[in-house]
Amino acid sequence: MHDLVIRGGKVVDGTGAAAVIADVAVTDGIVTEVGQVAGSGRREVDATGLAVLPGWVDIHTHYDGQVTWDPQVTPSSWHGVTTVVMGNCGVGFAPVRADGHDFLIELMEGVEDIPGTALHEGMDWTWESFPEYLDALEGTERVLDIAAQVPHAALRAYVLGERAHEDATADEIAEMARLTCEALEAGAVGFSTSRTMLHRSRHGLVPGTHAPIDELMALGDAVGAAGHGVFQLIDDGSPVGEVGHWMAEIARRTGATVTYSLAQTAADPLAYRAALDAAAAAAADGLTIVPQVPCRPTGMMFGIQSSLHPFITHPTYRRLSTLPLGERVEQLRRPDVRAALLAEEPATASPVARYLMSRWSRIFPLGDPPDYEPAPETSVAAVAEREGRRPEEVVLDWMLERDGTAFLFAPLASYEDTNHDAIREMMLHPNAVLGLSDGGAHCGLICDVSMPTSLLTHWVRDRERGPLITLEQAVHLQTGRTAAVYGFTDRGTLQPGKRADINLVDLDNLTLHAPEMIFDLPANGRRLVQRVDGYRATFVAGVQTYADGVATGATPGRLVRFGAR
Ligand SMILES: [Zn+2]
Repeated sequence: MHDLVIRGGKVVDGTGAAAVIADVAVTDGIVTEVGQVAGSGRREVDATGLAVLPGWVDIHTHYDGQVTWDPQVTPSSWHGVTTVVMGNCGVGFAPVRADGHDFLIELMEGVEDIPGTALHEGMDWTWESFPEYLDALEGTERVLDIAAQVPHAALRAYVLGERAHEDATADEIAEMARLTCEALEAGAVGFSTSRTMLHRSRHGLVPGTHAPIDELMALGDAVGAAGHGVFQLIDDGSPVGEVGHWMAEIARRTGATVTYSLAQTAADPLAYRAALDAAAAAAADGLTIVPQVPCRPTGMMFGIQSSLHPFITHPTYRRLSTLPLGERVEQLRRPDVRAALLAEEPATASPVARYLMSRWSRIFPLGDPPDYEPAPETSVAAVAEREGRRPEEVVLDWMLERDGTAFLFAPLASYEDTNHDAIREMMLHPNAVLGLSDGGAHCGLICDVSMPTSLLTHWVRDRERGPLITLEQAVHLQTGRTAAVYGFTDRGTLQPGKRADINLVDLDNLTLHAPEMIFDLPANGRRLVQRVDGYRATFVAGVQTYADGVATGATPGRLVRFGAR
């Protein structure tokens, strides 16, 4: 007798192999058979007409704080994600001393736009060391599996204290390396650092951003010494030159996988190709360097509720910004307020902010269901030109739609050709991996946690402005492939012996809804979320966690520990 048999679905096993109509049997949380299953199950599920897929493995999230208070880990769990990797980009919450809590919260708030008040109220800080943080995570229940990485910034703050942004001494570097090794030995799945000039908090850049090469090598060597773990980083642009050089050096001396964020940038729209080529060349050299790429443009959501939009620094808007949404919308609809607003300029000295807020040819209506590949003729610039109006007027009208809850799509990267061709090239590259959903982060501006769902709705089913990808490719990219990059050999495919993390999806009716701003974080903190219909059931280790988008209350999720004691 099996615990569970899912019968007659279209099984796409995550290896890239062709879909088959088959049954899936599960016992003790493990897939035991895929095919014609003879014996019956204590529970039988009819999956006729549904796709039976491995649970999504999302390797780029920032749920480090949220998982300590939220057993549901939404919105990822709504989208069929069954494993998340946290602690990316050098930021996180351990190791930490009691007097260091505020610093790490301010860092996370600045870099990842997670409300500091929510983190203050939500986290109980029962840990100091990284192993203690892992124990705390293991001691709390949740619906999905989580895996943690050691963040460089927290190490620096812990070891260097007030001098976290300054050069480390040889002793301090040795201590950070020792703590990295300790964390990995306790089960961390990687080490992460930041080299980007875009990630900053009120304290400046992320500690470690300017860390010299010898420090990076020492921390890389700690990953090598632990015998497992990925070296993750975020850099600006496409790291081929100097950064590419030291990434290769780390991969060479440690044998570890080095993974970094790659996107198409406005500054050099073809540079991503050099990065992909470099990854292929490294692979031919026996090194594992894996660019992490998104499956749709990293998208800022401009709207009256967002943390950035074209009027956010205008004096007239600032005066209204603390009003409740309804009153703000009412004010903005008054002819005199509108005239005053449109007569003003952005009041910011930041050239980056000004640029992002007024790139009219790269701001589009998002719509519902959202369109992440809008045609150039639908941009603010194109509509304004056609209608003989100022772009500011067009944007303001769009932002006031749906009583001020509408969002505009302002792709930050990977949309330089106003289509998804570059993204398709990146995501199908054999040395790349899907990432960058940033689950749990950028609460006021970005909602890319639905990327795995977009793979199915957009890339497999709906795309009209270029070629699709196959269902088998899509599923492999977000399950078998992502799991393999992190060395999660126990999951990612629906094969006998693997964990029974399973989604039953109604592909024809899978519907991604427009993002919405909700205020359900601790201290009523806001966050952008995105709902979806069509995930009929999600199972984690054979236990059903969601039924048609509603949590069952079961919490089979565990902390994934590597190389643990
Ligand atoms: Zn990140």
